[in-house]
Amino acid sequence: IRRKLIAGNWKMNKTAADGVALIKDITAEIGRLGSVDIVVCPPFTALESAAKALEGQSVKLGAQNMHPEKSGAYTGEVSAEMLRSLFVSHVILGHSERRTYFAETDAFINKKVVASLANQLKPILCVGETLAEREAGQTLAVVQKQTEGGLAGVTAEQITNVVIAYEPVWAIGTGKVATTAQAQEVHAFIRDLLTKLYGAPLAQKIRILYGGSMKPSNAPELLAEKDIDGGLIGGASLEARSFIDLVKAAD
Ligand code: 13P
Repeated sequence: IRRKLIAGNWKMNKTAADGVALIKDITAEIGRLGSVDIVVCPPFTALESAAKALEGQSVKLGAQNMHPEKSGAYTGEVSAEMLRSLFVSHVILGHSERRTYFAETDAFINKKVVASLANQLKPILCVGETLAEREAGQTLAVVQKQTEGGLAGVTAEQITNVVIAYEPVWAIGTGKVATTAQAQEVHAFIRDLLTKLYGAPLAQKIRILYGGSMKPSNAPELLAEKDIDGGLIGGASLEARSFIDLVKAAD
């Protein structure tokens, strides 16, 4: 019942021109794949040209962050309305790199989630434990706190527009992918949590993506798990061949 979703998080990579070239390569081969939703998330500076390159395509456009306020004195920041004006439909929020390097808290991330939904953007809310937290047996507690914290105030009407991404921090950019059992355990736990918060019918509709060293070689196994509904891809989304192969793995 859940369509698979493959999202590419380009992080701080690609100029506008590089981004257009990558999008052209991706769309040339993917055409209109019927059964997978695809999102690419370039840096802010490449969004406008990416939007033009994606005109008439089924691939959707996402941003990597936004500020919760509408406008004002927030130097260096970008609002939901600004993103909407560039035909952005999704926004990654609470990525572990923002939590770690930019000290983003669950409360601040929650403000962004609420603001994104109020502005018709679909948030991709990232959660996940560090290696130290996993080794201390805190994985599920951390994921619960980040999920509940991020979703505070999100209504039943809004929740199916939310995508959750489980990204174990120790698997991001390290080549150390979570085992399918490790990933499925946490995905099922998140689904249970969503069921408690919103009821089973809605929880069954929410996509939970896996992220962390996902590649064409390990994707089929992960995507075969019951509660893994797609991937949030970093490194392997920067090159057309591997991104296309990931989309095909989900098709
Ligand atoms: P990698 O795929 O490079 O491990 O990055 C995952 C990620 O952080 C996606 O948001």
